[in-house]
Amino acid sequence: MVDFPPAGQFNLHQTRALLSALGHSPRHPLGQNFLVDANIVRKSLQLANVSSGDVVVEVGPGLGTLTGAMLAAGATVYAVERDPVLARHLSEKLVPLYPGTFFLTEGDAMDCPLAQLPPLVSQDFKIVANLPYAISTPWIDAVLEGVLPASMVLMLQREAAERLTAQPGGKEFGAISVALDAAYVQVPGHKVPASCFFPPPKVESCLLHLRRRENPRKLKPDTRKVIRTLFLHRRKQIGSIIKRLDEKPACLESWLEILPKWDATSMTRPEAVPLVAWYALDDMI
Ligand code: SAM
Repeated sequence: MVDFPPAGQFNLHQTRALLSALGHSPRHPLGQNFLVDANIVRKSLQLANVSSGDVVVEVGPGLGTLTGAMLAAGATVYAVERDPVLARHLSEKLVPLYPGTFFLTEGDAMDCPLAQLPPLVSQDFKIVANLPYAISTPWIDAVLEGVLPASMVLMLQREAAERLTAQPGGKEFGAISVALDAAYVQVPGHKVPASCFFPPPKVESCLLHLRRRENPRKLKPDTRKVIRTLFLHRRKQIGSIIKRLDEKPACLESWLEILPKWDATSMTRPEAVPLVAWYALDDMI
């Protein structure tokens, strides 16, 4: 029988023992690389400044390593876990230890990106998660459409983090970079070696720390749709892409005309259009 360590942190030995007690092998399609390094758990909580009374959303609590540490710090945690074996383990072991502060949903984070967090009238919330890599970008996209958390500390594949925080001019810059920059500033994060996980992933990971801007901009759904469409042809000139679109907002042509305000023209490629020009488009839509 493997019980929760006091702060909920499982080292490699405890993780293997718990998985074996559950008769569970890590499922690659669900991105099951469990954190086994207490320093990284501590660092995640520290970056997010998780304190007593905080409300935190977590995607993929897994065996409960981060979750247990956040609950022990006095936070209230809303989590969503897709794997039924892990969800049952958490329901049996962790939920009873924290009645009233741990709320677990068994399901897909793409159906409930904020883990069924009830509408909070007066309180902000944070997100802390070691994300399943396969859903990290679409999930963040979904989060940016809802009530915006005050901050996010996310364990991500390095490439995904680079895409999210890319600036105009490079091949990583895309629709998600525009939407994220509109609402969040990136605070220096932290590289995380593969040895901090079991099993160790074949990709590099990093902790990304995002803080909501003082005046965050939530792009309109129509703006996001247009930007996504334009980035499907990222290497073409923006004027010629727009010319060929069947359905488009009327303001796109006038936006093209004012692009020179930001040192761009109809011949610029979407990947080189400055952020401020995308925000102007959002104002016009
Ligand atoms: N938080 C744990 C940790 O740090 O050790 C586990 C993190 S592991 C990288 C990702 C977790 O997300 C796994 O528990 C996996 O089952 C869960 N997961 C994968 N896809 C999911 C989805 N679509 N919705 C909710 N949870 C998912």
